[in-house]
Amino acid sequence: MSGQTAIAAALAASRGRLPASEARLLLGHLLNRPAVWLLTHDDVPLDAATLTAFEKLTARRAAGEPIAYLLGRREFFGREFLVSPATLIPRPETELLVEVALRAAQKVGADRTASCAEIRHEQKDHAPPLRILDLGTGSGCVAITLALALPAAEVVAVDASREALALATENARRLGARVRFAHSDWFAALAGQCGERFDLIVGNPPYIAAGDAHLAQGDLRFEPTAALASGADGLDALRAIVAAAPAYLTPHGQLWLEHGHDQAAAMVTLLQATGFGSIEQHRDLAGIVRVSGGVRTDAHATAMMHQASR
Ligand code: GLN
Repeated sequence: MSGQTAIAAALAASRGRLPASEARLLLGHLLNRPAVWLLTHDDVPLDAATLTAFEKLTARRAAGEPIAYLLGRREFFGREFLVSPATLIPRPETELLVEVALRAAQKVGADRTASCAEIRHEQKDHAPPLRILDLGTGSGCVAITLALALPAAEVVAVDASREALALATENARRLGARVRFAHSDWFAALAGQCGERFDLIVGNPPYIAAGDAHLAQGDLRFEPTAALASGADGLDALRAIVAAAPAYLTPHGQLWLEHGHDQAAAMVTLLQATGFGSIEQHRDLAGIVRVSGGVRTDAHATAMMHQASR
């Protein structure tokens, strides 16, 4: 095999091992060309190094490695994010979380302005920025998309993985988003009670049951388990976040979390038990409830006072 092998022949050789669309994506990636370019240039000869690299990628894909990790990127909300095995691959259902968060941001912003009697009309421009926290940011796709959509907001994003934070920081730099990243296991590194407060807290935490068969299938086999699985019923992280969130929310702040397809009822119970009000749930494009949340209520302030006085 020499430089005589053309694109068409290389793609033909991968047939049976890969769908044609994936083969074009991988070869296009190596050639730094969009996949569609290959269709109109399939007589272009490939050099030996490219052929070898394509053969390696084909074998890895055939063994199940996620295409996003092989390409090193995935699109989310119309933008390209770098991804690595240190982070979850951004998913379409998480775009729902962003949509819900954007609507919530508008609402919290309006409520806040209305309830701040001392902020006179002409001073509204000087109102403190909306503060948003993204828990377990991974590639940073949620925090960065929110920061780009709400340029006046202060967005903080935390993750327990330093590798994920490095990647998220790079994504923010490439996309020109202003996000403050912090190394933190959920709220651990944020000053509680009278410290950091947020108008909006969002997150796509791990929520798959530790024994779930899906963890041993498809892309999930290659993704970080810490970003996917969370205790026997998958609710450990969601429980911890819902319980701790009120102490980090402003009085009318909102919490919105992505969760599993079968956790809608459990989420209502959790949010109610923790004193959240105006609980709402949102369905993804498949009609499944995947995002739940609510508003911090006075019950939280009372509970916190009791805790403090004990
Ligand atoms: N939505 C992913 C899946 O079900 C899981 C993501 C997560 O655990 N946060 O494959």
